[in-house]
Parts: sequence; structure tokens; C-alpha cells
Amino acid sequence: MAVPVQRGSAMPPEHEFTDIRAAVAALCAEFGGSYWRDCDRDKSYPTAFVQALSDAGFLAVLIPEEFGGSGLPLGAACAILEEIHRSGGNGAACHAQMYTMGTLLRHGSDAQIAEYLPQIARGDLRLQAFAVTEPDSGTDTSRIRTTARRDGDSYVVNGRKVFISRTEHSDLMVLLARTSTRESGKRHTDGMSVFLIDMRQALGNGLTIKPIDTMMNHASTELCFDDLRIPASSLIGAEGQGFRCIMDGMNAERILIAAECIGDARWFVEKASSYASERRVFDRPIGENQGIQFPIARAHIATQAAALMVREAAALYDAGKPAGSEANMAKLLASEASWQAGDTCIQTFGGYGFAVEYDVERKFRETRLYQVAPISTNLILSHIATRELDMPRSF
Ligand SMILES: Cc1cc2nc3c(=O)[nH]c(=O)nc-3n(C[C@H](O)[C@H](O)[C@H](O)COP(=O)(O)OP(=O)(O)OC[C@H]3O[C@@H](n4cnc5c(N)ncnc54)[C@H](O)[C@@H]3O)c2cc1C
Repeated sequence: MAVPVQRGSAMPPEHEFTDIRAAVAALCAEFGGSYWRDCDRDKSYPTAFVQALSDAGFLAVLIPEEFGGSGLPLGAACAILEEIHRSGGNGAACHAQMYTMGTLLRHGSDAQIAEYLPQIARGDLRLQAFAVTEPDSGTDTSRIRTTARRDGDSYVVNGRKVFISRTEHSDLMVLLARTSTRESGKRHTDGMSVFLIDMRQALGNGLTIKPIDTMMNHASTELCFDDLRIPASSLIGAEGQGFRCIMDGMNAERILIAAECIGDARWFVEKASSYASERRVFDRPIGENQGIQFPIARAHIATQAAALMVREAAALYDAGKPAGSEANMAKLLASEASWQAGDTCIQTFGGYGFAVEYDVERKFRETRLYQVAPISTNLILSHIATRELDMPRSF
């Protein structure tokens, strides 16, 4: 159901969905810094945390009530992810369940929705993986080479995907593959199709998963499809129209990840301001020095401004209005605000910012990702320059 756009709400964004925020904060308090440090050190998936979120129903907030979810707007999901990150945790372990579900909900057949959504809402099935990126196509999605060839009642999938998160911790995966060549369509993005892959059946039957070690604990993997046969009923939406099907999900992804960045930025600002008020050097708190104080104030201002943009993007999305540019702007502003706040926090902590036990260096590594993924800053700037400002395209 479309929710009216609430522009110019008098309520600061961090004071919306207060009940949800309080419940998430209480859950996150059970998973403190040592929990996340251990996961980070061991590169282990935060299974207990994701299970607790799922049991509490937070991963099903966007699923309509008729399918067992809470039927809440994207703004509520933003509040959940922001609070996870503000508490020092990392929602990247499970955020995909929120936005990949949108592709299924909006474009899936009645049979697919009836089969999968209630199981996902109950937590019986995990839909945590979304496979688009490939080694040779990079940001230019239209050049993906993974193919799905129709063969009777099946499709046969061949190709490779890279940097696909959480595949080892998911039962289902949304996959983008080519069903006809880039050259044969009217537009370069025609001819791609979306499939819902049941990985429990695919693993060992044409799908292999190889972990990729990255600078933070992100459960990244490389996928190889070698004649993977999937039922034709795995197709989501119309064949060849897959790019359009995933765009909605991608906008939701950008808005949700922007909310995570806001949570990170708030965590950094809160840590930095309290440390600056306590740490005494030259016989006074370092926070008395404006060289320490002002960058923290500046990071807070950038965070507040970005949070307004995230709310605007979420409101447009919830109202069913075009939200592409706002989702991109929100992601850019929020990822830059969290990076600015992280850099300021490290500087404020001095040497202690590098000591693992303070969590600052871990959060610093984690938040850096969001200027690159799920879409890099340059590509957002290009989108705004060409779509909003009508400047000529360079590619
Ligand atoms: C930890 C992690 C998790 C990820 N999870 C997923 C996932 O679950 N699913 C998935 O599908 N993908 C995932 N990705 C992939 C991610 O979306 C891509 O890495 C990202 O979109 C950039 O693509 P690329 O790495 O191929 O960079 P490239 O496309 O090779 O680009 C490299 C750099 O060049 C810049 N660039 C390229 N073209 C231009 C241009 N025309 N003008 C200006 N600058 C340009 C880019 O902005 C970027 O900074 C993940 C990545 C990481 C690191």
C-alpha cells in the first residue's frame, strides 16, 4: 500500500519509529563490541545476531501482513538498520533480506509469492544473496556474461559472479543473467532476466561457491555456474526485463545502506564526542581544543543533513514515486558523512583509534565499503550529472 510522502516533517529523522528503534537497541545491547570483534577476528558470520533479529521479526518488516510480515514502510527498515549500526553492530550480515524481497514481491508470480514470502517471513528460508556483479563487466551491468539458456522446462546457467555477499548463509539467491545478447535488444539493458535460485539444490549440481577474503568481515564469495539447470519457474517477471525488475530493489538497497551509514556516523560522533570530553592531555580534556571539537561538530552536521536526504528518499520510495536520484544522493551523502565521522573519530582517539578493543578501527573499515558498493560514488555523480542536470553522457 502506498504511504503518502511526508515532506518537511517537523520530527527529526532519528525521532521517527521510536518504538522500533528502542526494541532494536535493546536487542543489539545483547550483542556488544566483544561479539562483533570476535566475529571480525574469526571472519565468522554473526549467526546468533541474525537469528535474534529474524526471531524478533525485524527482517520481515517489509513483507506484507498477509504473507506473515509486518507490512511496514521502508522508513521503518531504515530505522532498524540505522540502530544496528549506531549500536556498533553491522547489518550487512542480513540487510539483503529486506531489499531482495522487494524484487520478489513486486515482480514475482502469485505462485512464487505464495510459496516463498511466508517462509521468508517466518525465518524458515533465508533470502540473503543478490548476484549481479561479474569479474569482467564491473559497474557496467549491461555487459554481464552469465547466461541462462532456455531448454524445455529448464534454464541452463553458465558464468561467474564475484563479490556476492552471504551466499554461504542463504537458502535462496536472486540472480541476474543474460537470456539474450546485449546487441539484440533495443536498449543495452534489455535481454537480462532475474531468477530465484534455490541454492540448496544448486550447490554441487553446477554451482560452486568460493569465499573471498576482504578487509572486513563481509562473507564475500565468488560463484561459478557450470551448466546449472534450474526450473523455468525460477524466472521472476518477464524474460528479458530483468534489469527493470531489479532497479526497484537496487533503489531500496541504496536507501537502506545509506541508513546504515547514518548509524555508523552517529556511532562515530557519539564515541568521538564522549572520548574528547573524557581524555585529558595537557591537564585538560582534549575536547576543549577547538581543533578536536570542530571536526566532530562538522561530522555531526554532515550526518544530520544526510539523514534528511535518507528520509526524503525513503518517503518517495514508500509513496511509489520515482526515487532513483534521491536514493543515489542519500547513499552518496550518507557514505561520505560516515567516512568523515570515522576519520574524525580515529583522529580524536589518537593511537587508541588503532587499538582493536575500541572498535573504532573495525567500524572504520566496515563503513569504507559504502563509497564503492553497492554503487560507487563516481557512478552516482554521473547519474546526477546526466539525469538531473542533463549534461552529456560520457559512456
Ligand atoms: C564487500 C563487497 C560486497 C559486495 N556485495 C555484492 C553483492 O552482494 N552482490 C553484487 O552483485 N555485488 C556485490 N559487490 C560488488 C560491488 O557492487 C562492486 O564492487 C561495485 O559495484 C563496483 O564494481 P567493480 O568492483 O567491478 O568496480 P569497477 O566497475 O571496476 O570500477 C572501479 C572504479 O572505477 C570507477 N569507474 C568505472 N567506470 C567509471 C566511469 N565511467 N566514470 C568514472 N568512474 C568509473 C568506479 O566508480 C570504481 O571506483 C560487493 C563488493 C564488495 C567489495
